[in-house]
Amino acid sequence: MNIEQKVSGLYDQILTRNAGEPEFHQAVAEVLESLKVVLEKDPHYGDYGLVQRLCEPERQIIFRVPWVDDQGQVQVNRGFRVQFNSVLGPYKGGLRFHPSVNLGIIKFLGFEQIFKNSLTGLPIGGGKGGSDFDPKGKSELEIMRFCQSFMTELHRHIGEYRDVPAGDIGVGGREIGYLFGQYRRMANQHESGVLTGKGLTWGGSLVRTEATGYGCVYFTEEMMKANGADINGAKVIVSGSGNVAIYAIKKAQELGATVVGFSDSSGYVSTPNGVDVELLKEIKEVRRARVSEYVAEAEGAEFHEGGNIWELKADVALPCATQNELSGESAKLLVENGCRFVAEGANMPSTPEAIEVFKSNGVHFAPGKAANAGGVATSALEMQQNATRDSWSFSYTDERLKRIMTNIFKNCETTAAEYDHEGNYVLGANIAGFKKVANAMLAQGVI
Ligand code: NDP
Repeated sequence: MNIEQKVSGLYDQILTRNAGEPEFHQAVAEVLESLKVVLEKDPHYGDYGLVQRLCEPERQIIFRVPWVDDQGQVQVNRGFRVQFNSVLGPYKGGLRFHPSVNLGIIKFLGFEQIFKNSLTGLPIGGGKGGSDFDPKGKSELEIMRFCQSFMTELHRHIGEYRDVPAGDIGVGGREIGYLFGQYRRMANQHESGVLTGKGLTWGGSLVRTEATGYGCVYFTEEMMKANGADINGAKVIVSGSGNVAIYAIKKAQELGATVVGFSDSSGYVSTPNGVDVELLKEIKEVRRARVSEYVAEAEGAEFHEGGNIWELKADVALPCATQNELSGESAKLLVENGCRFVAEGANMPSTPEAIEVFKSNGVHFAPGKAANAGGVATSALEMQQNATRDSWSFSYTDERLKRIMTNIFKNCETTAAEYDHEGNYVLGANIAGFKKVANAMLAQGVI
């Protein structure tokens, strides 16, 4: 059997064993495609069922989350934690609260997380969790009761040396606070290393809030430099308006770019004169309102209800909202409008068709597992500070983040070249992330 047949047989098995999980299939397909060249060059990576084991989570936990709403009615949600791979360190990955959450989505995110965490160079394994709970429109007390119920079950599965969750869509500082409070109560100890994204007075790290967005822009800056361009003076589209998007906008503008648009699930705002980040933060983080509110208070901004943000003209696109938000058609629009660089702040926001359009049109493309690794890397730095009971300064932590993102870029670049696919950062990220995990799995035996 040649490599092509082996990999396609393996993928067929994964489809059968994980039916009805299209996002998981998509994430696995992309990695398997990249691994063909590795298996060709270093066939020992095909031994001991290594790739099959890598595609099967070590543990999947699904649990009931009952809670009482403000009307006194019992509501029932479903909670998930997929502990995918702990060969490099404790499971690490965020919790997502969004109505679309299901097992397949958590598995795709957990699978991506293995390679992303490996790329950071830090000792963390891959995991992900969440719930189909929708925080939108819920009162403060409803959010708190939900978080407490969620942690009442999750607490027995996590720990500083076992599994260290963080935030993701719908889980920010407020939710981490309620989750941590309930964990502390149930465990009867202040185990600060059990969650990251904590408040600064109780074990949190400076830069964690900004890290994913900043890191994505640091990666973009490196990618542009390596390809003869400069972010200073560039026009940039940032989709979304949550944690990742806000800090990607902030850093891009600090480096001299103009951010020409941002969005939420109701539509997009065009901002030809750039974004007033403080106003956007006030609307999203304090008022918890929709992006449409922005235009009433910012000159030159326009709201496009239900519009497609990728129709804007820009040099750089940073998709920072959610999976599969950038289709093949949208990618064509970006190319037609002269976009030359795309870096994923979100996880898997570009469809396979979009990636193909970028590839065939010479657009430099950075996959999420590399470009958005700054968040989890800084979470690992938070764990280091917790372990040593220390708090680092903003500038020191930001410097570490920047160095990590530069190293990830260089690693993707040199790995792609080593396998004769120069400039293919998808392949570079997948292979570099894979090899470290694979070598550790081979060293630790068939488990
Ligand atoms: P937030 O909840 O803070 O923000 C999410 C943003 O995405 C909101 O603006 C939201 O709009 C928008 N969005 C969500 N779903 C959709 C949808 N179906 N269509 C259009 N817009 C949508 O999440 P984060 O900023 O933390 O996460 C964004 C992405 O980045 C996710 O893919 C996440 O996995 C990834 N990521 C996050 C990290 C982190 O540190 N937070 C780390 C690495 C990756 P609306 O309010 O209308 O729903």
